[in-house]
Amino acid sequence: MSLGQSLGYTFVYLILCSVAVAQPELAPPPRCSVAALPAIDDPEALAFEASVGTTEVVDTADLTPATARALTRFQQVVTSAGGTFELKSAYRPPAYQDHLQAVWDKWMLELRRNLKKGCQALRTEVGEDFARHHLMESQRPVSYSDHTRGVGFDATVIMPAGARLKMRRVSVDLLALLVGVRRPDILHDPVHFRLVPSGRVPG
Ligand SMILES: [Zn+2]
Repeated sequence: MSLGQSLGYTFVYLILCSVAVAQPELAPPPRCSVAALPAIDDPEALAFEASVGTTEVVDTADLTPATARALTRFQQVVTSAGGTFELKSAYRPPAYQDHLQAVWDKWMLELRRNLKKGCQALRTEVGEDFARHHLMESQRPVSYSDHTRGVGFDATVIMPAGARLKMRRVSVDLLALLVGVRRPDILHDPVHFRLVPSGRVPG
């Protein structure tokens, strides 16, 4: 090997070494281009967020009086007919409803299918938030809702087959109409009941 060749190899070797050494500095820590969820600053919404998963999150005191009356009657007639009634959600502050929408958007549009290494911590966090709030992929929370206006509530109502009230065969929806509420979208949101404006209750 000539001196020139030898120097050449040494040179290449040094270059490779410097690249190898410089590599860790050149590769930045993985970053996520998806922004974190906006912080909740409304005190009422913060209280709601803190009580998710407890009965405290169900606020019936801020429903309109007509809705609160219908809800109480609904629980009574369902129980009388042998059914079970589990109230999940009632009034929600607008800022809390906005938060639900933000969680849904962040998960569905930016993180659900995000495989980037730098985004996995945020993906886990928002995924947990999505599950904790019992959000559904098929349904984006609306910003102006029956909940924020105090005229809607979510309840899981189960009636036994062949349930009767005063000898009459009854279903969830028949009992709902009887007390002045109805389900606007049984297929996509089976737990949501909305007050029927007075004067429109049939029969
Ligand atoms: Zn609802």
